Amino acid sequence: MPYREDLDRTIDALAAYLEEAEGRNGPVLRQPPMRTLAVELGLDALMREGGLSGERLSAFLDAYLDNATRLQHPADMGHQVACPHPNAILGGFIDVFTNNPMAIYEMGASAATIEYAVLNFMLRKVGWQPAPYPGDPVDPDLPHGGGVLTHGGSLAQLTALATARAAADPQAWENGNDPSLVVIAPADAHYSVARALGILGLGQKALIKAPCDRQQRLQPQKLATLIEATRASGKRIVAVVANACCTAAGLYDPLDEIGAICNAAGVWLHVDGAHGASALLSDTHRHKLNGVERADSLIWDAHKLLRAPGLAAAVLVKDHRRLEHTFSQQASYLFHDKAHPGVDLLSRTVECTKAGLGLKLFMGLAAEGEGGLAGYIDSRFALAREAYDFINARSRFHCAVAPEANIVLFRLKGLDDAQQLQLRNRLVGAGESYITTTEFAGKRWLRLTFMNPATTLQDVEHVLHQLTAMAKEGG
Ligand SMILES: *Cc1c(COP(=O)(O)O)cnc(C)c1O
Repeated sequence: MPYREDLDRTIDALAAYLEEAEGRNGPVLRQPPMRTLAVELGLDALMREGGLSGERLSAFLDAYLDNATRLQHPADMGHQVACPHPNAILGGFIDVFTNNPMAIYEMGASAATIEYAVLNFMLRKVGWQPAPYPGDPVDPDLPHGGGVLTHGGSLAQLTALATARAAADPQAWENGNDPSLVVIAPADAHYSVARALGILGLGQKALIKAPCDRQQRLQPQKLATLIEATRASGKRIVAVVANACCTAAGLYDPLDEIGAICNAAGVWLHVDGAHGASALLSDTHRHKLNGVERADSLIWDAHKLLRAPGLAAAVLVKDHRRLEHTFSQQASYLFHDKAHPGVDLLSRTVECTKAGLGLKLFMGLAAEGEGGLAGYIDSRFALAREAYDFINARSRFHCAVAPEANIVLFRLKGLDDAQQLQLRNRLVGAGESYITTTEFAGKRWLRLTFMNPATTLQDVEHVLHQLTAMAKEGG
């Protein structure tokens, strides 16, 4: 059976790729010119003639994987995207194989049930009431939470802010936006916040910068004053956005104080936990999100620190009814309907044909157990702290701020922003290590993100070594 043979070839090629990357054989990444790669892969001929099977498939896979960026290579300290758990990868594979668009229960009962269960797992971690199964008794005085998985944090952000808008102005769905609607967010909130405002038609003018300290952390005392002043000027606040943690440096806003202020003022608090909410699994780091239960909505990417392959991002709300009103003024609460065996998530999401994203989180979680994933998170946060001490102890380098997550920002002393950037590009061009850069507190920093469970302090040491040598050569 030729398909079975192609399946075996694909699995063999991927298993070899994984072994090589984990064994630090070869570079983390290669970037040949795009045209060269298109020719090497034989793309145009294959699309014209077909025949990608058998030997030709193996040759194609070798070339493809050779030029892939190896997240499983321990010297990958680049972007904050999961080094996917091998079992979670199987979840993604099962999902594409069965291809069940599970936003309607009858189109994928297993996938829909798994998504529902992982959302409840996440709701419990936040401290919110999990959602009942259809037909379970529901206490109308104790609203339960709700959620949906989407293709990425950016889409989750859009969904959550649309939910907040529906709560602030239920007429907006029918009539469009009232020009008085605004959102308060830290200046270094992820760009998907500003993008969501554009898409929602609120416009960039609706974005009011939250008061932050020098480390870009939202300042609660000043927030209370800003909320009052904003209201006094006739504006209506859709939401306050807080970071847990922020993308650039991985610092957590003080959610407990911010939550108390928002709750007292009756303002929707949206927490961007795309990267950092996974710390809720850790006994050691959970306190960084103290007060998250005071929020009204939270986004949480499983494809960052929960080791799910892309993409699986949760939109979570404290009160499920809010989410049901996001895309319509009339809501139907299907889980109360005893005649219906499952829940249709379609009403909660931008997406129509929706993949079974829950599997990508579930399979890794179910292989490791929550304690296993917590141990992974603890070890990556601990490595960031060790790297911070290690880098600061070197005379040529210094760090921006003590890390609170798995992200470390550092610079070479005596070099300007352009030179830092140049050195980073040379380092990545060499392919042995992968790091990124970011702006933080008015400066350009080199940035390490520890996602790979096998990265060690030696990998950091090697980066410093390479950078020192490159700077000496005249960076
Ligand atoms: C990554 C990230 C996002 C965007 O999530 P995607 O899944 O990449 O779309 C939003 N906010 C924060 C804080 C992030 O780290």
